[in-house]
Amino acid sequence: MHEKTIRELSEGLKSKAFSSLELTESFLQRIDRLDPSINAFITVTPERALEAAKAADVALSGGTAGPLTGIPIAQKDIFCTEGVRSSCGSKMLDQFISPYNATVVDRLNAAGTVMLGKLNMDEFAMGSSNETSFYGPVKNPWNLETVPGGSSGGSAAAIAARLVPGATGTDTGGSIRQPAAFCGITGIKPTYGLVSRWGMIAFASSLDQAGPMAKTAEDCAWLLEAMAGFDPKDSTSIERPKEIYSQGLDKSLQGLRIGLPKEFFGEGLDPDIHQAIQTAIGEIEKLGATVKAISLPHMHLSGPAYYVVAPAECSSNLARLDGVRYGYRAENPKDLKDLYMRSRGEGFGAEVKRRILIGTYALSAGYYDAYYLKAQKIRRLISDDFKKAFEEVDVIMGPTSPSVAFQFGEKSQDPIAMYLSDIYTIAVNLAGLPGMSVPVGFSKGLPIGMQLIGNYFSEHRLLNVAHRYQGVTDWHQQSPKL
Ligand code: GLN
Repeated sequence: MHEKTIRELSEGLKSKAFSSLELTESFLQRIDRLDPSINAFITVTPERALEAAKAADVALSGGTAGPLTGIPIAQKDIFCTEGVRSSCGSKMLDQFISPYNATVVDRLNAAGTVMLGKLNMDEFAMGSSNETSFYGPVKNPWNLETVPGGSSGGSAAAIAARLVPGATGTDTGGSIRQPAAFCGITGIKPTYGLVSRWGMIAFASSLDQAGPMAKTAEDCAWLLEAMAGFDPKDSTSIERPKEIYSQGLDKSLQGLRIGLPKEFFGEGLDPDIHQAIQTAIGEIEKLGATVKAISLPHMHLSGPAYYVVAPAECSSNLARLDGVRYGYRAENPKDLKDLYMRSRGEGFGAEVKRRILIGTYALSAGYYDAYYLKAQKIRRLISDDFKKAFEEVDVIMGPTSPSVAFQFGEKSQDPIAMYLSDIYTIAVNLAGLPGMSVPVGFSKGLPIGMQLIGNYFSEHRLLNVAHRYQGVTDWHQQSPKL
């Protein structure tokens, strides 16, 4: 049962092969058994899940069920969930029980999904390995000595370990795509503005975007269909006609133009990954696509620009967590200043503090022009590179990450080395484009991800390409021995 995709589970529920209650119980048992060694969940919500499953079974019997009715999922702990701890992976919000649901949570609930719990993540989504979580690192189910990627590492590991068939993630610089690659699953970061950010705890508001993670592109399409759409509560949400992502996935790839940026295949890329990507592209060519070499000349500036813009925005967003308005409060403060300093000093971890310091510095009156303004200019140059590329090609392909999953501790003492694991994903967020990662092979027993990047609102096309690729390969069906 755990190996089935969301589509297969949905068919099983419709045909009464099993009930949502049975399905939910069986995933909860699996979480009980396996999660102590993986640590993908921060909070498991069995009572709520069983109640939601019973309601889903009523809808399934009454003929009012939708495609996702009764399907177990889990939410990254960055999403506010009414009545349930919403910690964002931080001691700062360890005691925070949200009084309301994020729009994404409301939408997935309305679609009839059954939430099993909240997933572990890097603190405030800052990280690429899940090692910054207050709740301890998540283990990669393919090799418990290696990281699952981050920041949506709990989501990726839970799906890879078959603890849940689908989950939400968020991606500010690669946090859906990189953990999807490290754990051998599929994930899509939509165009900025497609999915509401309301109730999603903000890291860097101009970059953050939520998206689905699952075994297959088809499952991602089903989840995205429920998650996407205009929300008046998010001022950057885009009003446009709703798309049916689950339809048209089988469309022919005849004539599809693939662009391969030379900057994605240079120094620093693991040769096994290079090889696996080339083989995958060969498969897609057999399905009718053509390949063209392209260039994104400002790619090398995306890391430096991101690590100014993201910390700048986070330093502002996290100011509200001061022990007064929100968050952990230090005990017995001497005075107001002591309350602020110790609440923030004790509540935030080292990486979050590092980012707040960098961001505050970059936004300070004396350095704003030199850093923040410069980074915004680079951002435009990067968007223009993509704009030019999409005049010639439909989809850009390359690696998701330069390496496969690395060992715990390997990069945690060296922030720059850690930041480089998002070198291929960050530019996509700076430009606001959709990007996806699909499993395309293994190196030394660890999964390899290929990244697909499309023009604005081309999620449909990305999902179509990934789905057709998954129709002729079985990397997405492999699961770790646990
Ligand atoms: N690893 C990147 C960072 O630490 C991206 C994180 C994310 O996408 N949330 O900022």
